[in-house]
Amino acid sequence: MAQCRLIIPWPAYRANGIRLPPARPRRFCPPATGTFSHSHPAARAFSTTAHRRIMDTTGFTDTQLDVRAAVSQICAPFSNTYWQEHDETQTDPADFHAALAAGGWLGIALPESLGGSGLGISEATIMMQTIAESGAGMAGAQAVHGNVYATQPLARFGSPAQRESVIPRVVKGEWRVCFGVTEPNAGLDTLRLRTVARKVKTERGDMYRITGQKIWITCAQVARKMMLLARTTPVEDVKKPSEGLSLFCIDLDRTKPGLEMRRIKKMGGRAVDANEVFFDDYEIPADTLVGEEDKGFKIILHGMNAERCLLAGEALGLGYAALARAAAYARERVVFGRPIGMNQAIAHPLADAYMRLEGAKLATYHAARLFDASKADTSITPHALGVACNSAKYMAAEAAFAACERAVLTHGGMGYAAEFDVERWFRECLVPRIAPVSREMILNYIGEKVLELPRSY
Ligand SMILES: Cc1cc2nc3c(=O)[nH]c(=O)nc-3n(C[C@H](O)[C@H](O)[C@H](O)COP(=O)(O)OP(=O)(O)OC[C@H]3O[C@@H](n4cnc5c(N)ncnc54)[C@H](O)[C@@H]3O)c2cc1C
Repeated sequence: MAQCRLIIPWPAYRANGIRLPPARPRRFCPPATGTFSHSHPAARAFSTTAHRRIMDTTGFTDTQLDVRAAVSQICAPFSNTYWQEHDETQTDPADFHAALAAGGWLGIALPESLGGSGLGISEATIMMQTIAESGAGMAGAQAVHGNVYATQPLARFGSPAQRESVIPRVVKGEWRVCFGVTEPNAGLDTLRLRTVARKVKTERGDMYRITGQKIWITCAQVARKMMLLARTTPVEDVKKPSEGLSLFCIDLDRTKPGLEMRRIKKMGGRAVDANEVFFDDYEIPADTLVGEEDKGFKIILHGMNAERCLLAGEALGLGYAALARAAAYARERVVFGRPIGMNQAIAHPLADAYMRLEGAKLATYHAARLFDASKADTSITPHALGVACNSAKYMAAEAAFAACERAVLTHGGMGYAAEFDVERWFRECLVPRIAPVSREMILNYIGEKVLELPRSY
């Protein structure tokens, strides 16, 4: 029986310079080692939960390492079996979200005055990596990440009333937030989105009426709020298509007319919902507008570099989890009288995957560091930041894909079995390649902005 131990309460972390909300000390009991129901010989040697961390942590700050240790402890009771079951039954991991909220983690990169911890995107990135790496994968990350990044533009550009009414509730976990940008008819050409917000005067005061359709909106079923991007001035009436878009922080009130949602059946990360959301003259108060009308695209851009860093961290976490699991299997699984890891055809792809992850890790934390430093250091240009954040997301997504694919192949037939988790992570590792911006569009961006090649679209 595993022994319980006392978790260090936050004040001890604070002594090391971390400003996180206080939490009561509590008993932490490591989950019991899982066993498999079938008789595959290698299966008996494995835990469904624990795995060795293989990332080199040299060069991380003490704060980042403390965040990693503390978030790991919160994730530990949520075993791989928990994530397998939630994936299979498509059940929202509400208790996982609540556990992170209870520790104050959802406010990691939000101002202290609003209940957050006032840390940076570097710390938020390592938190998201740790969540994915715990075995929770993209599902665990997606259950919380909207609350971390979609609130950034609100914290920066929202009115005092908006900030104070929404952010503390999100940090406490009372309300969840989703991000409503993608549309079926616009795709990656965001500036061509067609959802419109029309301002009207009613006896209830000034309102906007929203009409249009969003797609792939993560957590819309469980979210109380949506950060919505909609057109307030027709594209024909603006100088540039980036003008005339506005950002709103709206209630998703399912009891009101004009709002419908349909859950999308998807390949992976099935614990979290993804949705089509339909608006048909859905009425929202005018004071839900964030910042100036028609300037929403600039506002939302602010959150996009941060989002790329977080996604890069999540991809890394997934990749390291899969690779650690593959290496453990390669050490233990005996075929032809020797561990399969003795075969270089198994060992070399895993070693190669490790170096790809380590390279992507350096790019990711470089980008996150630039993001945080750019607030005070004007020598960090938007161009340098955009290149660093996009490159990091690309490299981490590709490295994760390589690691997850090789993890499945290393397991042979058992790589296809849900009990070994690597098939779940493989299904999930496609997400950072597609979203929030596809790998092709990042290649376009680097080709055009860095190499000065002619724009291809
Ligand atoms: C699991 C999941 C969760 C998501 N969550 C959210 C969310 O919460 N909120 C939200 O707003 N969105 C969300 N998205 C949407 C995601 O951001 C988009 O799917 C992504 O931006 C790609 O857009 P698209 O699907 O419309 O692809 P399309 O624009 O239709 O592109 C299709 C393909 O064509 C390629 N392509 C298009 N144009 C070019 C070009 N000029 N050059 C080269 N290649 C090109 C693309 O790279 C891609 O491979 C999510 C998506 C997924 C899969």
